[in-house]
Formats: sequence, structure tokens, C-alpha cells
Amino acid sequence: MIAKKEKKIMKTILIAGGAGFIGTNLTKRLLNEENNIICIDNFHTGKLKNIENIKSDNFKLIKHDIINPLKIDEKIDEKIDEIYNLASPASPPHYQAAPLQTIKTNIHGVFNLLELAKENDAKFLQTSTSEVYGEPLEHPQKESYWGNVNPNGFRSCYDESKRCSESICMNYYREYGTKVKIVRIFNTYGPYMDPKDGRVVTNFIIEALKNENITIYGDGSQTRSFCYVDDMVEGLIRMMGTDDDFTGPVNLGNPEEFSILEFAKKVIEKTNSSSNIINCPLPHDDPTQRKPDIALAKRMDWKPEIKLDEGLDKTIEYYKKIIDYQI
Ligand code: NAD
Ligand code: UDP
Repeated sequence: MIAKKEKKIMKTILIAGGAGFIGTNLTKRLLNEENNIICIDNFHTGKLKNIENIKSDNFKLIKHDIINPLKIDEKIDEKIDEIYNLASPASPPHYQAAPLQTIKTNIHGVFNLLELAKENDAKFLQTSTSEVYGEPLEHPQKESYWGNVNPNGFRSCYDESKRCSESICMNYYREYGTKVKIVRIFNTYGPYMDPKDGRVVTNFIIEALKNENITIYGDGSQTRSFCYVDDMVEGLIRMMGTDDDFTGPVNLGNPEEFSILEFAKKVIEKTNSSSNIINCPLPHDDPTQRKPDIALAKRMDWKPEIKLDEGLDKTIEYYKKIIDYQI
């Protein structure tokens, strides 16, 4: 079987995109497990405030854009054991506002980090996305499905560069034997996502807490499957711990599927909000449905443990504390 239970030893782990939403949660978890963490971020969408209060000798922050090669000897003395690459804008408004930067991040950036992995003989985990399936013609989506992606539309800067990032990883594995791992993340939510991130979970929670209109794009019949971030972090760590000949790609996500209208109603109910639902234009190429098949992830003994109700309660509590709102 592909899962391998690793003994807890102190490793040096580089997290690119470590000041972002998932990156911050992963950084905190791996620091708690007594690892050395090197966080690399250019703060394009990540926030210094997420990580600036980490007071640990085992934590180092390097402000750097992965599009440029990292002159590692100048900044890092230790051998790197593992690299998690989470550096990429992930929210549609953010990546569509910086399409060429997004493409370079997912292509030049992935080359640069893979070179670093090769030099260090480190394991390299790439966070790909359910977006590689585009507007899926198969439901739920299995890893074997090649997808249905518009190659030049407004989402293509993200979808196609993430697809290319998977190809770059597999070709480092085939040509150089680099120990690569690819995960395809489905919609993930929880603490440390920027309240202005623009994705559906933060938008709806903030709107509901402020009793503002809840902005559903389209008629709300499109579906998504939401995974709480603690489950995602566990999945990333399990994937990193698999045998070297296991590259994935592996879907990570929660297969419980909700329409966006159902999701909006749930947020209103949980926040006890007086918000009204309004319908706004549907963005270009917005996928109609999304649900991961997680049979392969289950072979790593992984499955999501936190149901949407529980995860949403925790997330709402987090945003209540950090935003300034009026009841
Ligand atoms: P995020 O925007 O909160 O975090 C991304 C981080 O990467 C930010 O800190 C940002 O500043 C940093 N970054 C971006 N470009 C960079 C560059 N060129 N150099 C250095 N740092 C850079 O997004 P997230 O939700 O935490 O996503 C993390 C990863 O997971 C991304 O690769 C994303 O594509 C993938 N993913 C996330 C989801 C999700 O639902 N959260 C879904 C699918 C895939
Ligand atoms: N969405 C919405 N209102 C918002 C933000 C998003 O109705 O304020 C919709 C969006 O059109 C999509 C779904 O919610 O159908 C999920 O959007 P998100 O940006 O979170 O991620 P995606 O899965 O599209 O990458």
C-alpha cells in the first residue's frame, strides 16, 4: 500500500506560499511537530499578519517571488528535506487580476522550486487544483479524467498553468528521478483565509456577519464540495509521507456536495443574519459542478473528518473575532 507511517523526526521543510491561507495552517501544524520551517512568500495574496506572531527559533521567513531562482546558499544553510509548493493566487478575482504573474508563478516558479528539490534531493509536493477538470463532463471527478478546460478563457491563466505544473513535476520525476507528489485540491475553507480573498466562503460569511446582501453569482444551482482546512493539511502531510514512487495526482477534498444557493442559506442560518440573497452575473466559465472522487486518497488512510456544519461554525467564529462588523 502507498501510505507510509513516518516516525516523527525533525525535518527542514520549505513552504512556498506559507503566508497564505492553507500555507499558514500547514506552517503552524508542522512547527508544532518540531520541524524547521522556511516560509517563502511574496505577499501577493498572503498576509504577513498571518505569520508574524510566530515566535520560534525553528521558523524562518524569506520574502521572495518564486518566479525568480532563490539564491539558496545566501539565505539557507541547512539541507532541505521537503518542499510544499502552495505559492499561487487561488481566488478567481485574484488570479484573473494578475493572469501573467499567475502563469509565471505556476511555471517558472515550479521549475525554480523543482531545481531546489533536485539539488537537495528533497521531496516536492505540488498543490494542483480541481480546476484541471474545468467544466467536468464526468461526475464525480476521478484522477483518471483528463478534464474539459477552455485553454484561452479568463480562467485559463490558472487552470492551464496548473495543468502545466503537473506536467513539469512528472517530467522532473521521469528525467531526474525527483521525488514529486501532486495533489489536486478541491474548495477548501477555514481560518486564515483573507476576508477580502473573494472566494465564496469568505464572501458569504463576511456579508452575512455584516447583514449585507449575499451575492450569489448566477442562479446558485452550481455545486461545490467544501473541505475544512485541518482535513486538507492532514491530507497534504499524508501525501508527503507516501513512498517515493507514488507521485499522484491525488484528489483531496470533501465529497459532500452543495449547491451555492444551499450554501448561502446555511451561512445565513448559522450567522443568524438578516441578509438578503441577490443574484449577480455568473463569471466566465464558472464550473457547473465539482465533487471529488477520493478513493485514491483513502488508500493513504485519509478522508475528511470535519463536516461542513462543524467547519463552518469554527470558521464563522474566526471571522467574528477578526472583522469589524455591526449587528
Ligand atoms: P492563498 O492565495 O491564500 O495563498 C497563496 C500564497 O502564495 C500567498 O501567501 C501568496 O502571497 C503566495 N504567492 C503567490 N504567488 C507567489 C509567488 N510568485 N512567489 C511567492 N509566493 C507567492 O491561496 P490558498 O487557498 O492558500 O492556496 C494555496 C495553494 O493551494 C495554491 O497553490 C492554490 O492553487 C491551491 N489550491 C487551493 C484551493 C483552495 O480551495 N484553497 C483549491 C485548489 C487549489
Ligand atoms: N460565488 C458566488 N458568490 C461569491 C463568490 C463566489 O456565488 O461571492 C460562486 C462562484 O461563482 C462559484 C462558487 O461560488 O460558482 C465557488 O466560487 P469560488 O470563488 O469560491 O471558487 P471556484 O470553485 O469557482 O474556484
